Formats: sequence, structure tokens, C-alpha cells
Amino acid sequence: MMKLKIAIQKSGRLHDDSIKLLKECGIDINNGVNKLKTEASNFPLEVFFLRDDDIPQYIEDGVADIGIVGENVVLEKKKQVNIVEKLNFGKCRLSMAVPKSFEYSSVKDLENTRIATSYPVIVQEFLQRNGIKAEIHEISGSVEIAPGIGLADAICDLVSSGSTLFMNGLKEVETVLKSEAVLAACHHLQPEQQQLLDKLVFRIQAVKRAKN
Ligand code: ATP
Ligand code: ZN
Repeated sequence: MMKLKIAIQKSGRLHDDSIKLLKECGIDINNGVNKLKTEASNFPLEVFFLRDDDIPQYIEDGVADIGIVGENVVLEKKKQVNIVEKLNFGKCRLSMAVPKSFEYSSVKDLENTRIATSYPVIVQEFLQRNGIKAEIHEISGSVEIAPGIGLADAICDLVSSGSTLFMNGLKEVETVLKSEAVLAACHHLQPEQQQLLDKLVFRIQAVKRAKN
């Protein structure tokens, strides 16, 4: 029998809620630590555990049929995938932040600044949309320390409560994107896989309704 292959985050902020959602959909998976993949015992589902950054590519290539990943990652990676359903967890925003002492009144104040971010594609689009010229410095982690060490004038990073920004002497000045975890799917699913996906989405929608 055909199986649906789903990619979820191996560890990190989306891992637990992704497993929990599958459980709430009545799908039992034994989630062994350090495993690369596992199978559901009561649904034709194979689960791959991956880094979130790699998930859009795996789905585009059809190595995974579907996946759970932040919308922010889907947009940054510019992969051809369908966003099938928003999942109501992993909520955050991608925001511009500047040092508290920066006298910021509008997006024009970002002109000619150096902006540190792990999201160069989304930031470039934001700057273009607003007609701003600025220099993007791509860094992969600890973006919030960049202004303090003189690497950048501003940052664009994921925020949920804002406490990390505050602790680093930064203030949030623009929301670039609002994001949450989404179910993404490959453009070229076999009919049988599409049927399994429909079944899964039906269950996810029921779980979401029950929570409202
Ligand atoms: P990986 O090891 O899989 O590459 P990561 O470190 O890139 O993990 P996490 O920090 O676990 O990623 O975040 C995964 C996703 O969780 C983000 O892409 C985003 O969609 C979501 N998220 C929700 N709140 C936050 C937050 N406050 N900071 C960062 N990400 C958040
Ligand atoms: Zn990542």
C-alpha cells in the first residue's frame, strides 16, 4: 500500500506541537529520539525528522509529500510548494528592530543602514516594496547581538514575546511578516497520496474546530 510521507522538524520549536497535532488526529507514531524516520501504526504515514530549513526543498523534490514548517521558512526558501492549511501554532513575526537609542520614525530611517538577518530574501523583498536601499548581512544565528558588536545598525529577526530584543537593548519597529506553522504539500502528488492528504486535512480541520 502507498504511504504518505510527511517531514517534520527533528528538534526545535515546532517538533513537539507537530507530533501533538498528529496524535490529536488519532495518528500513533512512536517518536524515538535520534531516529531519522518512523511509521504510524494506524495510518499509512511515514514520518521524516529533518531540519526545518530543509523541509521546503524535500517537499518540492517530492522526497516528502507533505511537511509541517513555518510559513517564514517556506517564503524564504522560495520553493514551489502548496500551503494547504495553517496550523495555529508556532506563531511569531519577523520584525525589524533597532537599538533603543536609534530615533526611528518610519521605514525611511532604514535607508543606507546595515541590516543583519537570517532571512535575506524576505528582507530584500520588504526593502524593495518600500523603496529602501540598505545593505543586508546574512547571519545564521544570534542575530540580536549584531548591533551591539558593531556589525549592523538594525536587525530583522523572528520575535514572539519580544523579550530577547529587550534584553539586547533593541526595540521592535516594523513587522515584516506574520507567520505560523503550516502544512505544505508537493505540487505533484499521486491520486492515492492526494486522497490520504485529504483525509489528514479533514482530521486537522476537526481538531482545529474543536479548539475554537
Ligand atoms: P532547525 O534545527 O530545525 O534548523 P531552527 O533553530 O532553525 O531549527 P527553531 O528556533 O526551532 O528553528 O524555530 C522553528 C520555527 O518556529 C521558526 O522558523 C518559526 O516559524 C517558529 N517560531 C515561533 N516562535 C519563534 C520565535 N520566538 N523565534 C524563532 N522561531 C519561532
Ligand atoms: Zn532552521
